[in-house]
Amino acid sequence: MPLIARASIDQVQAAADMVEIVGQYTELRKAGANYSGRCPFHEERTPSFSVNPAEKLYYCFGCGAGGNLFGFVQAKENLDFAGAVEYLADRYGIELEYEESSARGDAERHRRERLRALLEQATAYYERVLHDAGAAAPAREYLKQRGLGDDVCRQFRLGFSLAGWDKLREAARAKKFSDQDLLDAGLVVPGKGGRPYDRFRGRIMFPLADDRGRTLGFGARTMGDEKPKYLNSPETPLYHKSEAVFGLHAAKAAAGREDRVYVVEGYTDVLALVQAGVHNVVASMGTALTEQQLKRLARVTRNLYLCFDADAAGLGAMSRALTLGRKMGLSLHVVRVPDGLDPADYVLSGAGGEGFRALAADAQTLLQFHVRLALATHDLDKPDGRARAFAQLKGVLSKAATPIERDEELRHVADRLQLSAESVRYLLAGSGRSAEGGDAAGEGRSQPPQGGGAAAAVGGAHELEVRFLAGCLAQPQKGRVVLAAVDESFFATTETRAALRVVKARLEREGAGNTLQTAAKAAEEDDDGEALAEVVVRAGRERFTATVVDELFLRLQEAHVSRLIARLKVTAQTDESGKQGAELIRLQAVRRTVREAIRTIPVDEEPDEG
Ligand SMILES: [Zn+2]
Repeated sequence: MPLIARASIDQVQAAADMVEIVGQYTELRKAGANYSGRCPFHEERTPSFSVNPAEKLYYCFGCGAGGNLFGFVQAKENLDFAGAVEYLADRYGIELEYEESSARGDAERHRRERLRALLEQATAYYERVLHDAGAAAPAREYLKQRGLGDDVCRQFRLGFSLAGWDKLREAARAKKFSDQDLLDAGLVVPGKGGRPYDRFRGRIMFPLADDRGRTLGFGARTMGDEKPKYLNSPETPLYHKSEAVFGLHAAKAAAGREDRVYVVEGYTDVLALVQAGVHNVVASMGTALTEQQLKRLARVTRNLYLCFDADAAGLGAMSRALTLGRKMGLSLHVVRVPDGLDPADYVLSGAGGEGFRALAADAQTLLQFHVRLALATHDLDKPDGRARAFAQLKGVLSKAATPIERDEELRHVADRLQLSAESVRYLLAGSGRSAEGGDAAGEGRSQPPQGGGAAAAVGGAHELEVRFLAGCLAQPQKGRVVLAAVDESFFATTETRAALRVVKARLEREGAGNTLQTAAKAAEEDDDGEALAEVVVRAGRERFTATVVDELFLRLQEAHVSRLIARLKVTAQTDESGKQGAELIRLQAVRRTVREAIRTIPVDEEPDEG
């Protein structure tokens, strides 16, 4: 890990405009001291997302996402902490300084930088070859035939690898890159006798870039019959196949703006669509979408429109992606291109970007897709084929998102299966119960299990602890008094304990200058920043009085004592000395006192000034 100097991080933190950064993903409106808008981390209609511009913190009351400036950039741009700092430094024109850290960390950083430099050189080299070399004329012709113009090829930095065995190797060595560099970047293959040779020969080169547009590896396509048709970079320190998404860098802005992204199979599909004015499009690498790829996409938008071949492999891949995406809470749709065309052929055949958008407007939902898939896989002309389709559809229909959606599909199914109304009703009744996450129409669903065990207990503690800390921040005078009587053992999770440390430090120090760094630092060092962000945002948004803080303090004590009692009840049973039994009785008396105090809290008539 490269160590960026503390001073540089502080500089970036000071220079960045939180509202501007968040504003790239969602529209923000001023609401008091904060800004609010619709959450860029989950789908919602009414705004529950808050940004505190002074502290540069965010929090969503809907999904609980929260953190500081760097955390936000990490999440939305898919970067690690150092990457987020570099991204912001880039944006706000700050030159970063690195600490003289461990020798190994430096070596690692230099290694990665060297590989990046080599991959950039290789990209530029392949580009030059494609556009200028005589030997690349067939490649230029091929792209032209496919209807792809010069502009879009240059935008995605397409290239061509010459057919020789060490053309790239020689070019790279002339730039003082070693064979080891080339091997590490996946650009050459170790040959017999130790002489490596070019991995990519005679292929059109598609650079696979990270979210900032830096080449990590290549996808390479033949123009003839050589096998394999597509050859990709191997796993390297920079390139990981399971995370690769072609075109995401170019698609990000439009995908965020339109709040949807189209996922196609081929590189040329991406190029053709972009050329037709559909910019929010990416290609999966191969047919199976991985969880890592879906996560990268989910950071840009949660609405994915899959547009894969309708062949068996494509259907299977979509089905898996749909199931996986559904588990991740993504909203998935299937765009069907008519006549077995791929998206590139479709837009180039005259339909254009408008035609494609019209198809997308008719995209199938997950349910429609599965229903049609089930209907397509059985021979509906035969009674036993219909019976099998029927059996499969019972399960499929139980996954309907809404009763209305399910009823619509039921009519379609009944029609295709030549079923009577009687059978349809049977299908309807039988499909509701096994609903896995779906809503069964009008049927009284059982209440959520009560008690809820440990998870619910922690949830309740979290809410109380966060609210208490927010109150302390909002009422600093009162906060300082009660916090003096509180230590970390009062808090149930490491998250809220971390938040307690920051709030305490902040109230003790008073100085506004310190708090910003303290808060940012605490939030960046681990994942504990979410609770802190929630505390800070709520302090500025909810109304707290000194009496409310008193009450929260009492409730915090009650929860704390209750936890001690619960623990003692277990251990006291096997304690032969009897000391624990005595302690138990003492604690129960304490709890009674605290409860009595809560009961007799005076009613708050006039809110104090915050
Ligand atoms: Zn949210």
